[in-house]
Amino acid sequence: MTEAVVAYAVERIKMDAPIDGPRDPEALGQAVGQTVTPTGLGGQAALRLFIDTLAPATISADHPKFLAFVPAAPTTASVLFDLIVGASSVYGGSWLEGAGAVYAENQALRWVADLAGMPERAGGVFVSGGTAGNLSALVAARHRWRSRSTPRNDRVRGAILASATAHSSIAQAGATMDADIIAVPTGLGRAMQGRALAETLAGLPDEDRDRCFAVVATSGTTNAGIVDDLLGIGQVCDAEDLWFHVDGAYGAAALAAPSVAEHFVGIDRADSLIVDPHKWLFAPYDACALIYRNPEQARAAHTQRAGYLEILHAEDPASQPWNPSDYAHHLSRRARGLPFWFSLAVNGTDAYRDAIEASLTVARAAAESIRSAGHVELLNDPQLGVLVFRRLGWNVADYRRWSDDQLNSGQSFVMPTTWGDESVLRICIVNPLTTTDHIDEVIASLA
Ligand SMILES: *Cc1c(COP(=O)(O)O)cnc(C)c1O
Repeated sequence: MTEAVVAYAVERIKMDAPIDGPRDPEALGQAVGQTVTPTGLGGQAALRLFIDTLAPATISADHPKFLAFVPAAPTTASVLFDLIVGASSVYGGSWLEGAGAVYAENQALRWVADLAGMPERAGGVFVSGGTAGNLSALVAARHRWRSRSTPRNDRVRGAILASATAHSSIAQAGATMDADIIAVPTGLGRAMQGRALAETLAGLPDEDRDRCFAVVATSGTTNAGIVDDLLGIGQVCDAEDLWFHVDGAYGAAALAAPSVAEHFVGIDRADSLIVDPHKWLFAPYDACALIYRNPEQARAAHTQRAGYLEILHAEDPASQPWNPSDYAHHLSRRARGLPFWFSLAVNGTDAYRDAIEASLTVARAAAESIRSAGHVELLNDPQLGVLVFRRLGWNVADYRRWSDDQLNSGQSFVMPTTWGDESVLRICIVNPLTTTDHIDEVIASLA
């Protein structure tokens, strides 16, 4: 079994996997049958079921023509090391149990913090994804707000300012925390501006203004890759004593790309920042780097206390060891930053810069292809690697039919999104194996 599993993993890493796609539950049920049985299927049979039937029913997110949502493009080094993380039974929650792993993860976090220009004391933890990272950062923000208020405002419902283009996980964090989201207006396809934030704050009744504890700026919106006015927003947060959270789950990877560095000016002011290595930093699912300017503020919010955990905490705060559990909403954790760290250590950071620049170059060429084709029309002015465009004369049903047909025939995975009230197409390029030819094939298939 060991040899067969490792052999398949190696083969999958080397092969150009087909794009594959889902099957309906009945068909899959008939093909696979009952797999969990009293006596077990045995390693070979269970593995065959996965290889022959289950794996082809999952889309290969690393396919160069997977252009929907945010694709995946993990390096060989990162995928191989993911096997080692699984094999090593590393507990990544505390320094006591995971010092070696935590040390390496922290170096990977430091690289991101340096790209963002965050201070030396900045630090954080890898969590499962942007959704978990945003929630943990906003919980820390609320904790700071509550601990500064006199009398303590534990019963006051807090509020977060964000634009409508912020990721859906921000609304979910608000719902989970029972906090309101106050909308900062932006025009269609436009960044959230510091001025709009200041005006929104100025227009709030005092009792609402007093409930605001954080502002979320997005550095690369999911729908269109738009980077908010980080400098302006950060200045308003400073002046108004609000926690400045930057959601860079998709786009902050481009901090490594000098050609777009200008968009990120002001990110160094963030109180917290997230970026997903499983998106544009070439690591496998799942990993989000969550970094705080003042990690002690996050520790105050997130540390779990119990008799059986006291041993993890130093009596003298000055000699407190770095316990990753203390910086997010979790306790036990996989050292999920290690595949990313290993790949950074193996390949060097220049390779990351070059790979991100490569997808930006393809995105710029793709924008030109769309602009010069007669049957499609580009709707955004791409700052990063997301292109939003319409096929002239098509409605939502046309997009769905084309998109299904592309997937079913193994051509590409491209999905519609909405732009204002309109159904349109969106592609997101993060894979260095995605070429301008791939994009031109997609555009031609829309003719
Ligand atoms: C993808 C994304 C998220 C959510 O990240 P997950 O890893 O899917 O939880 C949050 N914010 C932005 C801007 C994103 O693009």
